[in-house]
Amino acid sequence: MDRQLTLMVVHAHPDDECLSTGGILARYTEEGIRTVLVTCTNGEQGDGEGGAKPGEPGHDDAAVAERRLAELRESVAHLGLDHLELLGYRDSGMEGWEANSHPDAFANVPVEVAAGKLAALMEHYRPQVVVTYDETGGGGYGHPDHVQAHRITAAAVESTGIPDKFYYTAIPRAAIKQMFELMREHGVDLGDFEPSDDFGTPDERVTSVVDVAPYTERKLKALKAHQSQGDSIFLLRMPEEAQQQAFSHEAFERVLCKVDAPAHEDDLFAGLR
Ligand SMILES: [Zn+2]
Repeated sequence: MDRQLTLMVVHAHPDDECLSTGGILARYTEEGIRTVLVTCTNGEQGDGEGGAKPGEPGHDDAAVAERRLAELRESVAHLGLDHLELLGYRDSGMEGWEANSHPDAFANVPVEVAAGKLAALMEHYRPQVVVTYDETGGGGYGHPDHVQAHRITAAAVESTGIPDKFYYTAIPRAAIKQMFELMREHGVDLGDFEPSDDFGTPDERVTSVVDVAPYTERKLKALKAHQSQGDSIFLLRMPEEAQQQAFSHEAFERVLCKVDAPAHEDDLFAGLR
C-alpha cells in the first residue's frame, strides 16, 4: 500500500493559518493529501469584545481564547483541512507586552517540552512535509510565539527525523513591494506604515511558490471567520484586486529536502509523488 501523503503546518495563533498557508491547506486537502494544522496557543492576547486590548476593560483572557478557538474551527471548516491539533499554550503577546513575562506563556515554555508534544504528533501523523516560520518568526515579524513555533518545530523535525521536506513560510520582498504599489494605486490609506527594506523574506531565499489562485475565495472566508481580530487584519481592507494578488500564491523557503526535487519548485510535494 502507498504511504499516506501528509502535510503538517505549525502556527502560533488562531488566524495565522490563513494568509501564508490557507491556500496550500485547501489545495492539498482537495488533492487527497492528509492535512494537519497544529496551532500552538489559544490566542488569549488578541482583541477582546469591542476591540479591547489586553489590560483594557472588557478584555478577558479566557473569553478571548474561547472565541478565537471557535473562530479557528470555522476557519478550518472553510479551508476544509482534515485535522486540527491544539497544543493549548498561553499566548505570549507581542514583543514587549506585559504578557511576555507570564510563566505559562508559550515563549517561556522550555523548547524541549513543547517540541516533545509536537514530536508526538509527528510520530502519529508521519508528515512527509512540514511547514512553519523562519527563525525571525516569518520575514522578520519577531512575535515571540512565532519565534517559539519555529524553534519547537525545528527541534521536532530534527529529533524525529520524520519529514522528508521542511519549509519556512516566506513573504518575498518583491511581492511586498508590488502589493504596496498596488494599494497606493488604489488610494488605500496606509497611514504612516512604510515597509522597511529588510521587511519580508529576501527573494533569494524563496525556493517554492505554490499557485493557490483557485482557493483565494476560501482563504478570504477563513480570514473573515476570525472576526474578533478584524481590526488587525489589514488585508481585509484591501481592494479586491490587491487581495486576489496577495492571496493567489504562497511562497516558501525549503530548508530540508531528502528527496529528489528541483531547486525551484511549484509544489511542496515535488519528489514525493
Ligand atoms: Zn500569530
